[in-house]
Amino acid sequence: MQVFTSVIVLAIFFMAYIFTDIRDYKERKVKSVTSLAHVIGINSVSTILFEDNEAAKDILAGLKNVAPEIVRADILDKHNNFFAGYLRPGAANPDTLLIKYLKEPVFKDTLLFVGDNIMNNDELIGRVSLVVELSELSALKKSKSEMAAILLIAALCISFLIALAVQPYISKRLLYLVNAIKRVGQTGNYDIPIIDNGKDEISVLVRTFNNLMKEVNESQQRKDEFIGIASHELKTPLTSIKGYLDLLNVMEDKEPNKQCVQKALESTHKLEKLIKDLLDVSKIQSGQLQLNISRFNMVELLDETIAAIQMVARTHSITREDDHEDQMISADKEKIEQVLINLLSNAVKYSAPESKVIVSSKNNGTELVIKIRDYGIGVPEDELNQIFGRFYRTKNSSVHISGLGLGLYICRDIILRHKGRIWAEKETKGSSFYFALPVGVYAEM
Ligand code: ADP
Repeated sequence: MQVFTSVIVLAIFFMAYIFTDIRDYKERKVKSVTSLAHVIGINSVSTILFEDNEAAKDILAGLKNVAPEIVRADILDKHNNFFAGYLRPGAANPDTLLIKYLKEPVFKDTLLFVGDNIMNNDELIGRVSLVVELSELSALKKSKSEMAAILLIAALCISFLIALAVQPYISKRLLYLVNAIKRVGQTGNYDIPIIDNGKDEISVLVRTFNNLMKEVNESQQRKDEFIGIASHELKTPLTSIKGYLDLLNVMEDKEPNKQCVQKALESTHKLEKLIKDLLDVSKIQSGQLQLNISRFNMVELLDETIAAIQMVARTHSITREDDHEDQMISADKEKIEQVLINLLSNAVKYSAPESKVIVSSKNNGTELVIKIRDYGIGVPEDELNQIFGRFYRTKNSSVHISGLGLGLYICRDIILRHKGRIWAEKETKGSSFYFALPVGVYAEM
């Protein structure tokens, strides 16, 4: 854009330069031809007074050697009749009418028509008229245009080279900004400002972006604080409600009262899970989620968790499809159980009744990979990574199935704290969720 603008400005500048140069040349030419006409006029006074047009013709004929660019010269008497004339040999006869009635200098094609009065003691006795061929003008126009074109091309090349040299610097900074924005989008980490030491529009953009991120970060922190406080405050009364309901459940044996108490207890469990998730998220945000590492048998934990989920999800069939008996691992058992419960509950929640959920484990030497395969609604390909984000829910599930979009975020944090990996894959029907935990020497890294 800058190259284009500078070329346009240069072109305008050159056009103005050529125009003034040609105008100066014309003014100079008019002056010199008028002076010549004046000299011829002075020399011709006696020829007019004595009506000696042969002598006048001789004066004009002398122009052939003195000023070969003169095409035609005429002396007219005071009645504007031709008195004597000269036409350069071989030249075409110019416009006679224009010569006769010429009042001021006229440029016509490549010819200049100039006239001057012949005076004798302040009395007008005739006029001299000269027609000059401006062969230099076209040469001048040609040479100036050529020079302008060469300079313009040179300027264009130089600006292009400068732009080429500067562009990587600008593109580099823009790409850096774009990558930083992408990183913020992926990690949700708003508190790393982008550093740019420039003083141009890009640095204004960077500063605006940094300010925006600062505001988002502050409002995120306020939101996190609120979630932390609110879930903490909800936890105490809920524990007491749950305690009373447990008591009522034991004391009450009449129907339908007992059924009502059990329904209320079920809802309390759901609320409890929700509050626990919110508290976990606040702990993750404030870096307070601690691991309590112990050595345990993962296969046992898988079987226990499957059995526990199967108890509440009677409509689905959850099975483990591998023949491992022992898979010892060093990890936080409670947190890994929380991950398993989350993934299995999701597999049940996002698939139709009667469908199956298959759990399997595989030790590849460095990692123990757990796979939970379901035949439910599945996760769209483009959302496979996003579902591990905080409060993220896929478009196809968010409307019909309740949830906060926190479970996978917590699972991801727990697994990453174990230096493991967690991911999801789309299947022809349903989806598979994986998590991998380091085993053996790799677990110590
Ligand atoms: P929640 O289930 O409370 O919404 P999660 O963090 O556990 O939150 O899951 C995030 C989103 O990922 C869910 O809202 C859902 O859209 C999608 N999801 C998770 N597990 C599955 C699954 N097994 N099948 C299809 N979608 C799933």
